[in-house]
Amino acid sequence: MENMENETGAIRLQAQRSQYREHSVPLYLTSSFMFEDAEQARAVFAEEEQGQVYSRYGNPNVDELLQKMCFLEKAEDGFAFASGMGAIFGTLGALLQSGDHVLACRSVFGSTHQLLTNVFPKWGITHTYADASKPEEWESLITPATKLILIETPSNPGLELIDLEWLGELKRKYNLLLVVDNCFATPVLQTPTDFGADLVLHSATKYIDGQGRVLGGVTVGPKELIAKIRFFARHTGPAMSPFNAWVLSKSLETLQLRVEKHCENALKLAEALEGNPALEKVNYPFLPSFPQYDLARKQMRQGGGIVTLEVKGGYDAAKRFIDNLQMASITSNLGDTRTIVTHPASTTHSKLKEEERAATGITPGLVRVSVGLESINDIIADVKQALERVS
Ligand code: PLP
Repeated sequence: MENMENETGAIRLQAQRSQYREHSVPLYLTSSFMFEDAEQARAVFAEEEQGQVYSRYGNPNVDELLQKMCFLEKAEDGFAFASGMGAIFGTLGALLQSGDHVLACRSVFGSTHQLLTNVFPKWGITHTYADASKPEEWESLITPATKLILIETPSNPGLELIDLEWLGELKRKYNLLLVVDNCFATPVLQTPTDFGADLVLHSATKYIDGQGRVLGGVTVGPKELIAKIRFFARHTGPAMSPFNAWVLSKSLETLQLRVEKHCENALKLAEALEGNPALEKVNYPFLPSFPQYDLARKQMRQGGGIVTLEVKGGYDAAKRFIDNLQMASITSNLGDTRTIVTHPASTTHSKLKEEERAATGITPGLVRVSVGLESINDIIADVKQALERVS
């Protein structure tokens, strides 16, 4: 069908059916694929003929997931990785070489920070962090060696936003590659390729799965860049398993519905908590009090599923709040049907230096709430009773 909308594509794009004409796509749990004869094997390896070869290279379940992700992110081609970090490493590793410089937003995810700070320098790849709240400084941080800009918007967990329209212009002016980690927004809330992003990547572990079952990562973009990433990833091995691709492709069928409901619940929770005496601050992109509210309204369709709370009284008070919760889970994932709380300073971002955390708004009292799909009345009641018993 031509001109499908996103909800339709996420459901109807399907790997080729087998002779059984199954309605729901089967799981192609196989390491390799057979050839008709020796000549066909030669022709497929020589890329004279198309065909599946080996599941580290590709697999019908992985191909189906990528077809849907390319459709949703308006991209030509993609590669699926075993995890989000696999996607970030595979993408940057494929496109950068010794001597190259990366300009990254300073509020990147903790493991991305480790990759830039403690892994890439040993291959001569350097980086500089730019402050999302000071766009006027970014241009001066670009050097002749700068090859790529890497950002998250909204960031994890600081919820810092970056103006994608402005960044698209900057990257065009200096002929740089723009790579956007769209994990928090998902294609439901924002489409970075509309603003000139070259590559969009995801930790599919989060909202794409949406039920906390499997890890996965996806990078999509133009054919010629994905060809380089595919070459790098095929020969270094971080490919997604067929099983995870099958789960994730099924999950995409409900992505739109889930993300809309996550956003609705998150906004209601944020509104219910603003002014709560146990809190210093409630951060949510679609709250008018959010410092980048206008930008959020400009480039996001809804505010996302993450609310962060700054509990009065620092780490001890944040710990008491978390321990008082009766329903929300204490775990480091996000984007799940279940409401999850995480204390970034002592868990996901504990390896950062104190001043690095402070620079991205990760205070000792900050608690990240990934708002789930339970009844919003129950979520609000759980968080409120836990706050009441903090002091
Ligand atoms: N990017 C962002 C924004 C994340 O939040 C995460 C994980 O939390 C990752 C990347 C890494 O993804 P994964 O855990 O699937 O490797």
